[in-house]
Amino acid sequence: MYVTDECTLCESCFLVCPAGAIYEDEEAGRAAVLEAACVNCGVCMAECPENAIHKGKPPREG
Ligand code: SF4
Ligand code: SF4
Repeated sequence: MYVTDECTLCESCFLVCPAGAIYEDEEAGRAAVLEAACVNCGVCMAECPENAIHKGKPPREG
């Protein structure tokens, strides 16, 4: 799971994640998923009002 810049840090996903795998990436200014804790349940994706959470690995940057 990964989070894109559409994230507004509304914190909805923080509250619904059953694994507590989502945290605030202060440097990036958005939510981020701790892959080691994530169980890929998809609840965060369904909850995100900005459609900012996606399955798989982030597209390569730069
Ligand atoms: S897929 Fe599930 S476990 Fe992983 S970050 Fe989203 S809500 Fe949490
Ligand atoms: S629910 Fe979406 S917009 Fe809200 S903090 Fe999570 S990723 Fe960001």
